[in-house]
Amino acid sequence: MEDTQAALVEAASQYLYPNYRQPPLILSQGSGSEVWDLSGKRYLDFYAGIAVSSLGHSHPRLTAVLADQAVRLLHVSNYFYNEPNIRLARELCQLTGLDRALFCNSGTEAVEAMLKLGRRYHFDRGDRERYRVIAFENSFHGRTMGALAVTGQPKYRDGFGPLAGVTHVPYGDIDAAIGAMGDDVAAVIVEPIQGEGGVALPPPGFLAELRALCDRSGALLLVDEVQTGVGRTGRFLACEHAGIQPDVVALAKGLGGGVPVGVVLSREAYAQALPPGSHGSTFAGNALASAAALAVLEVLKEGDLVAQAAKSGEYLARGLAGIATRHSDKIRESRGMGLLQALVLRESLVPSAVVALLRDAGLLVTVAGSDAVRFSPALNVSTAHIDEALDIVDRVLIRYRTGDDG
Ligand SMILES: *Cc1c(COP(=O)(O)O)cnc(C)c1O
Repeated sequence: MEDTQAALVEAASQYLYPNYRQPPLILSQGSGSEVWDLSGKRYLDFYAGIAVSSLGHSHPRLTAVLADQAVRLLHVSNYFYNEPNIRLARELCQLTGLDRALFCNSGTEAVEAMLKLGRRYHFDRGDRERYRVIAFENSFHGRTMGALAVTGQPKYRDGFGPLAGVTHVPYGDIDAAIGAMGDDVAAVIVEPIQGEGGVALPPPGFLAELRALCDRSGALLLVDEVQTGVGRTGRFLACEHAGIQPDVVALAKGLGGGVPVGVVLSREAYAQALPPGSHGSTFAGNALASAAALAVLEVLKEGDLVAQAAKSGEYLARGLAGIATRHSDKIRESRGMGLLQALVLRESLVPSAVVALLRDAGLLVTVAGSDAVRFSPALNVSTAHIDEALDIVDRVLIRYRTGDDG
């Protein structure tokens, strides 16, 4: 007997840890920027699994590569090389101008690896007291202990301390970062745009000034592009917009198009800070995950999808700006870059209620930060789907009564 949607939701509430807050539906099938739940209801997918499904759902090239690789070889561990992994490393280095790649399985693992590298680099040079990390308030870097220690939001940190060795300063405040710098600082970690923090952009020049601060002090600049990377903002790396090069950069979310994979990329000198035995992971760079990521990069290149994301990002941004103007009683502003955009709600609106109303109306988006609704569709989203999504937002905002809990 096949489980109904309601029966499966009931089983979920009984057997899964209660650490997420899912709505009572089960997404079971997708195609491009459309997904369907088990009852057959269609949704426009403008969250893409939190900026993960960069090619949309069931992209024919990605599914073919996955099927082919599954038949050939799934996993050998890092006791041996595997073919797609080496090709992927070469492609990523060519795309970023960096020298070497270290693979992992998620964003938080990529951040963890950057932090370990940051400390170990100075340790190897005899700077054994150089361990402190400067991070930013309102940041999100992941949920393992190291990544959590640099994450600058109490709602993720509370109850897991002590989380030591990190100084948090306000995002975008270069004087605060300069003030926090010292001989004991190993690294500065920063997001080019704070994604989970509410799609918050730093003031112009901030990233370049941070780059200069790190150059002066010898601290490594660790750039967390787990959310902003792989074309999301209209450049392969978001920090290209600021004209800076990271010492080390972390990618994950969109890299595998839905298959879990993360990577750290750096210049040669920093790669040497992790010699054999110093770091690793059983699954990292697995043949299946590497084949998926390689297929994503090939499709991005062949379809010129990063440039397309820049264009459709502008189109989406214009539409959201129009909505912000038309509904200025409910929307404070629209902001973002490329296909990472947000509507910032006024205080009288409850973000989770707005997201729920949009979902009922057939549009999937996510809450980001305390007051923003985030739009992060697939990089190949069509303008027709953007129009449809904007129309749904317009209609829901017209109907939304302030104080309405959805
Ligand atoms: C999502 C995210 C992470 C954590 O990635 P996971 O794959 O969830 O572990 C880290 N940094 C940033 C900027 C992110 O958006």
